[in-house]
Amino acid sequence: MQVYLTALGCRLNEAELQTWADEFRAFGGHITNDLQTADLMVINTCAVTSEAARKSRQTIRKLHRKNTRAKLVVTGCYASLEKEQAQELLGVDMVVGNADKKKLPELAKEIVEWSSMPYAATEPEETALFVRNKERAFIKIQDGCRYRCTYCIVTVARGDEQSRTIDDIVAEVNRLQTSGVQEIVLTGVHVGGYGSDLEVSLYELVKAILEQTQIPRIRFASVEPWDLPENFFELFKNPRLMPHMHLPIQSGSNRILKKMSRRCKSETFLSLVEAARKVVPEFNVTTDIIVGFPGETEDDFELSKKIISQANFGHVHIFSYSDREGTKAARLPDKIDNETKKARSRELHQLATIEKIKSMKSVVGDVQQVLWEGTTQRSEEGVYRVFGHTENYHKIMLELEQPINIANQITECKIEGFSEEINCLVATLVNPESIQSDQLFITQVE
Ligand code: SF4
Repeated sequence: MQVYLTALGCRLNEAELQTWADEFRAFGGHITNDLQTADLMVINTCAVTSEAARKSRQTIRKLHRKNTRAKLVVTGCYASLEKEQAQELLGVDMVVGNADKKKLPELAKEIVEWSSMPYAATEPEETALFVRNKERAFIKIQDGCRYRCTYCIVTVARGDEQSRTIDDIVAEVNRLQTSGVQEIVLTGVHVGGYGSDLEVSLYELVKAILEQTQIPRIRFASVEPWDLPENFFELFKNPRLMPHMHLPIQSGSNRILKKMSRRCKSETFLSLVEAARKVVPEFNVTTDIIVGFPGETEDDFELSKKIISQANFGHVHIFSYSDREGTKAARLPDKIDNETKKARSRELHQLATIEKIKSMKSVVGDVQQVLWEGTTQRSEEGVYRVFGHTENYHKIMLELEQPINIANQITECKIEGFSEEINCLVATLVNPESIQSDQLFITQVE
């Protein structure tokens, strides 16, 4: 699902695009700058003057002319003030008033055939989980996969496993660190298989990065939950290796996992989670689950529900199964109807949200290092807010009295609570004087 986002008017309108982009990515969407290939276009309009409203109408028409195939969602001040007029413009599929802006990605998803299958491997450009910005760099450590999961197209397209050498990766990490990057995310198609062609292991690679670089934070992207080297989780005793992993389980039912040709059973998956949390109790495990895989019965679905609470996932990407041409799963019988898939997906979303909040609340009271990302924003109430991620990759917010820029700084924070309104953790600084805040940026203030 390719999503094109654009805004007119104030900086707040632009800042909202970033929030929506993160949410669309979390749903498995891709943000594109290419209008022609978009499946969904969202325009955040302005009506501060009649000229701004005219421009908003003009841009809506232009977007529709350039891509008549994509669904068009109009929001912002013009759309709120002139809702009926906006609704009547040619090509507009949905108008979202300012009051509903926070729910925009959720609402927009309703009008498009949301591409519903994971690619099952995380590459830099396919990463839905991580926020892409200048503070965080993605390093591809290997390509290809020796397995043939029945729904996976990546393996057909990517071929055999090929790993980069440890020296090459270490050199890249050092280059990135010199250029100011604070956090690296190790990615690949089958990360656990790293080094199978070079007779080295993922364990050795991580050890080398820890020993031969000074990069402050190292993470993993998506890692299939098998082939992890022995004692792998011991590595997380080093505080530079961030205690979070995205381990896609795909189903809680061993019967379905077998149909998917996955190499992991639910029991072994839970043992991995346990091993991780033995080393770091707040270890955050996130996952992917597919609902409605061919032949998935109510009992199978119940097992997927069960594993969500058993593993206390910090986040679950839920995908509704759809056939992908060229895969073995596409030829499997007993396809599940759309209504059932939708109902199962809704149910899992509700459960996953409960577990996510539980997982976030479990770190309240802790002191963690937080990497601050992006510009400081002024909220509607006039306070300055900056967002970042904890060590275990929970989104966190800090309120500042001054509009100072602390992006790309890592600071020690006390996690004070969880904000229902913003859906993230709230921090205070342990040592406010440690902030390097010489850059006051007044332009951000409206
Ligand atoms: S392990 Fe399975 S899902 Fe992952 S890349 Fe290989 S074949 Fe695809």
